[in-house]
Amino acid sequence: MASHETEAVVLKVFDHGESDKIITFFTSDFGKITAIAKGAKRSKKRFVAKLELFNHLQIFIADNKYSSLMRVDEAEILSPFPALRTNYDRFVCATLTSELVLNWTADHDQDENLFHLLTWTYGQLTKNNPLPTLLLFQLHLLTLLGFHLHLSSCCQCGTEVNMTRIFSFFSPKNGLVCSKCSSLQNMGPTNIPLSLGTIRLLEKARQLSVDKWPRLHFSKQSLKESIALFQSHNAFLLQRDILSWKELPCR
Ligand SMILES: [Zn+2]
Repeated sequence: MASHETEAVVLKVFDHGESDKIITFFTSDFGKITAIAKGAKRSKKRFVAKLELFNHLQIFIADNKYSSLMRVDEAEILSPFPALRTNYDRFVCATLTSELVLNWTADHDQDENLFHLLTWTYGQLTKNNPLPTLLLFQLHLLTLLGFHLHLSSCCQCGTEVNMTRIFSFFSPKNGLVCSKCSSLQNMGPTNIPLSLGTIRLLEKARQLSVDKWPRLHFSKQSLKESIALFQSHNAFLLQRDILSWKELPCR
C-alpha cells in the first residue's frame, strides 16, 4: 500500500465500532478524503486530541487496495484552533464552513487555494467576529468554484447599480436583477432583495485579498441580507439545504 504525507484539516469525524474512528479530511495534496484511524478510540499515544473537528494536521495516510477508505497511521497537530470548540458562535460558523466544503467538493479533487482559504478562515474565526468571516469565506468559495457573482449591474438590462432602482439577487442568473426587470416576470423565491450598502460591500469584499477582510464592516442589515443570499443561493446551486445556516447567530 502506498503511503503519503500531507497537510489536512478535520471536516467530520465519527466513531466506528469498538475502537476506530472515521474521519473526513480536506487535504492540501489530495482534496477531500475519508480515512479510518484504527484503534483511535483506545490509543492514547498515537491520536489523543488530534483527530478533533477543525484541527489542522500533518497526517500520514495509506491507500487501501480494496476500498476508497484510506488509513491514517499518524497525525501531528499544526494548529488546533481551540476557540472554535469552546465558543458557540465560533463553533457554529466553523461548522458551516466545514459543511460548505463537504458539500461543494468531490473526493480526491485537489484544490490548494481552497485548502489555504479554509485554514486561513479557521484561524480568522478564532479571533475575529465570526459571522462576517464566514460570509467572506462563502463569497470567496463561490468565486474559487467558478461562481463569480455579478454584483455591479442588472444581468437582464445592464443598468449599473445605483440609487434610483432597487436590486435583488436572482440565483438562476448568478447576479443582480433590477426592480424594473423583476417586475416584468415572476422571479419566485430565488429572488433575494439586497440594499445598496450590502451590494457595494460584497462587491468590494470580492476584490479584496483575504488579509484585508478584517477591514470590512458589515452592518446588521448587511449580515442579514448576506445570510439570506448565500443560504438561498447554495440551496439553488446544490439543490439541497445546508441546515447549519439556520443555527447562525444574528438571525
Ligand atoms: Zn434590469
